Amino acid sequence: MIAAVWGTGEFGKYIKQYFNNEKISVEYFIDQNRDALTLNGTQIILLPEKYLEELDIVLIGMLKEIPFKDVVKKLRMAGINKIGIVPAYIFMSGKEISIKDIFWLDLKKEIMPYLETNIIDSCNLKCKGCTHFSNLYTNNSIYDIELFKKDLSKLEENFNILYFRLLGGEPLLNPDLVQYIKITRTILPSTDIRIVTNGLLILQQKEDVLFHVMKQYNISFDISSYQPTRKIKHSIIKKLDAYDLRYRFSIDIETFNALLTMHGKNNPQISQEKCFNRGCRFLREGKLYKCPLDGLMYKYKEYFGIDNLPIDSGVNLYMDDFTGRINALDDAISLCKYCSEKPRIFKWDVARKPEIDDWLDC
Ligand code: SF4
Ligand code: SF4
Repeated sequence: MIAAVWGTGEFGKYIKQYFNNEKISVEYFIDQNRDALTLNGTQIILLPEKYLEELDIVLIGMLKEIPFKDVVKKLRMAGINKIGIVPAYIFMSGKEISIKDIFWLDLKKEIMPYLETNIIDSCNLKCKGCTHFSNLYTNNSIYDIELFKKDLSKLEENFNILYFRLLGGEPLLNPDLVQYIKITRTILPSTDIRIVTNGLLILQQKEDVLFHVMKQYNISFDISSYQPTRKIKHSIIKKLDAYDLRYRFSIDIETFNALLTMHGKNNPQISQEKCFNRGCRFLREGKLYKCPLDGLMYKYKEYFGIDNLPIDSGVNLYMDDFTGRINALDDAISLCKYCSEKPRIFKWDVARKPEIDDWLDC
């Protein structure tokens, strides 16, 4: 079979070099623009070109910059019926790429490049202005595990979910984290699945069951580098390396953004285009939201007794035409008007007594 790689960047070159299968020969690059006709002796083709008729497979590296929905649509129109996504962690590992590493898209389903959910709402760190309002939750509110399973299955039946992050709050506070991991991997066998943590509880894992399960189920950590995390970073690395787990630390987090306004007069297009939640989809208790802010705003309103912010735009997963409604979340929602086009930046800190202004731009 003849394959092409999408993109001529470093990831594309890596796929060309390291994809190894005796039945599939990678013979082309495909790109949106072309400065040269070849790259390292391999022909570069543009869409649409006659060569696509000869192609059986296209491989795409999982980079967040790639507009997957658009790219897959174009490839489908060019007659490509087999498209595989190569996870970013393979690229980072420098290993050979085998067939089983690849997420082969089910082209009858829609594409959802990124999804996240809170498996617990509270957190042990309580950052001032937490974008998930975790410092407003006083009890351990947890996503019911049976509902989580049902909701995720419903989404998976209709979408190729490329990347899924379990977060909170602090997911390591959820006593059933191991069960959530097993359920998630069973429903999403090929998705890049990560647990987002502030890292502070990693050293306290007693039986290390979590690490064995993460290794077995191919799950990695995304660790947010707050000041208290950085103090124990060396020990965290030592522990995770001992279990041969995959992990990555974020850049050092020194500041947070306060993006809410009460006037609702911002340009929603500009706000959402500049938004750090751009491209994010948030799953919560039977609904899919454009972003965690929309899904969790109820807590801010309830805690501070606010009634002038819009009701949420979450899509009920059990309504007719919910996939169409989910695709419409690509457009701005009512809440985007309340998000600043230029958020206030403040120094990261913990706030055990939250104030309404912690989230406000002005
Ligand atoms: S560590 Fe993350 S979830 Fe916890 S309070 Fe801070 S920002 Fe929120
Ligand atoms: S409401 Fe819109 S602008 Fe605000 S965080 Fe969500 S996506 Fe971004």
